[in-house]
Amino acid sequence: RPRIFSAMQPTNDSLHLGNYIGALTQWVALQDSHDALYCVVDLHALTVNPDPARLRDRTRRTAAQYLAAGVDPARSTLFVQSHVHEHSELAWLLGCQTGFGEASRMTQFKDKSAKRGAEGTTVGLFTYPVLMAADILLYDTALVPVGEDQRQHLELARDLAERMNSRFGDGTCVVPEPHIMAAGARIQDLQDPARKMSKEDGNKGAVFLLDDPKRAAKNIKAAVTDDGTEIRYDPATKPGVANLLTMLSVLTSTPVADLERAYEGKMYGHLKVDLAEAVVELLTPLQRVANEYLDDPAELDRVLAAGADRARELGAATLDRIRDRMGLVPAA
Ligand code: ATP
Ligand code: MG
Repeated sequence: RPRIFSAMQPTNDSLHLGNYIGALTQWVALQDSHDALYCVVDLHALTVNPDPARLRDRTRRTAAQYLAAGVDPARSTLFVQSHVHEHSELAWLLGCQTGFGEASRMTQFKDKSAKRGAEGTTVGLFTYPVLMAADILLYDTALVPVGEDQRQHLELARDLAERMNSRFGDGTCVVPEPHIMAAGARIQDLQDPARKMSKEDGNKGAVFLLDDPKRAAKNIKAAVTDDGTEIRYDPATKPGVANLLTMLSVLTSTPVADLERAYEGKMYGHLKVDLAEAVVELLTPLQRVANEYLDDPAELDRVLAAGADRARELGAATLDRIRDRMGLVPAA
């Protein structure tokens, strides 16, 4: 079974519908046919300088949401990044192969550092994509399911793998391929369809998986739509409606073209009501399972410890190989 690796940052109490549609649904679908590693990347979350107690809580909450969305620890390896020290070590090795200019071109860094200003912009935020490359290359990952927003970072991971192979010999690193789902690769903000839905803005523009379902429904009904009345999938001129159609399509497994036909002659309100209902149907059972895990963190911690054991075993073997190729003397 081909190896896949994917991850999310514990940067909020709750994941959002973009994370669910763009990533989690794929993770669940891929876990039978693939050897899947799903990680909560707490080291990445340190780039936003979180409160320690909050980070600890959010790490467990993120893992609980993976489980509630259907990630099955009997089939997939579910773990926390900082439990496997090899991530950090490989990040250093790869950082020494990354051009400063190359890292400076990452658009996510440009966006996030512009938002935070010079004071809030850390070296960690800058080297984030190198740590992400380490996450992926550490497991000889063949495929990486990510949303469209992570395409550039994945491209860097591929470049680094190829560079390692040309400098230190074929087989030093496995070059990963992106696995980007066509529909729902990028869910937009409900209030500003020009922006991606993000954990960063705890506002009305996101639908959070652990939100009160009634509030989630309200946010959807308040979504910004476009001029005109026609329900048609046209992201260029009708980004708001296109976003709603994408979400409904994924949540109800209905092709967008079928939805367009079904909503012919109907109003935006109809679409919103139906989407709100689909979201409530998703959130209610998901929250029940997530809360069971959060009420008994001992069980959750056991799952994460078992996952870390397996991940460490795989990662240590890869790291030994890379260290050796790069000329580091093995510890006796
Ligand atoms: P942050 O604002 O903290 O970066 P985020 O919402 O971007 O939060 P990440 O933890 O960075 O979440 O990403 C987790 C996964 O969710 C990645 O695979 C990413 O591609 C995917 N993802 C994030 N936002 C969206 C979105 N709006 N639509 C589809 N997929 C998304
Ligand atoms: Mg992100």
